[in-house]
Formats: sequence, C-alpha cells, structure tokens
Amino acid sequence: MFGNTMTVGALLDSSYQPNESAEWIHRIENVRIPVVGNPRKCAHDTTVCRDCADSWAIDYRFTDPLPWNDTTADAAPARGRDVAGGVLRATAWCAAAFAAIYLTGRTRAAR
Ligand SMILES: [Zn+2]
Repeated sequence: MFGNTMTVGALLDSSYQPNESAEWIHRIENVRIPVVGNPRKCAHDTTVCRDCADSWAIDYRFTDPLPWNDTTADAAPARGRDVAGGVLRATAWCAAAFAAIYLTGRTRAAR
C-alpha cells in the first residue's frame, strides 16, 4: 500500500502583507508531500506519516485523503479562500512542479 513514491496533495497558505502596502498578497501553494508508512522512517518535515500529520495540518491543508485516514469527512472546503482560487490555479502547476523537484531532491539526499 505504501509505495515509495506515494504522495498527498496539500495547500500551503503563504499569503503575506508587503511593508508598504495595506493589502494582503494572497498566495496559496499547491505541494505534494511524500507519505511514509512507517513513522520511524519519517523525517517529519519533508515527509508525512500518521504521527506528524497533525502538525503538518497546522500549516497545510491536505487535499488528498491520507492513506491511514481516508474515511475522513473533515475535508471541508476552505471558506474565505475562494478569492485566492484564481491565483491558486494560476500558480498550482508551477508550485507543484517546483515542490516535487525540491522534495524529491531532499528525500533522496536524506537516504
Ligand atoms: Zn512523520
């Protein structure tokens, strides 16, 4: 079940407010996080397991069901983030590709 390339999608809200501006820049990054079935083999910061999923959920909103928790009905849509939907779609591919390359590199380097 836990293949070595299994990942879950997640959204990271990296919105920020520039110093000179009163307006928030809404930015949502779409990343894929490698899933590790055995918590002892999980790095907890570049990979996710059942033990650290809760801490990931502080910053990230999982868009795929987690393999050990795929009956979750708690995948409620993010209210108030609809405005960022267009930005999300525009940056999703770029961010996802970047994250995949970055995370793959990190994961391999850690072995
Ligand atoms: Zn972990």
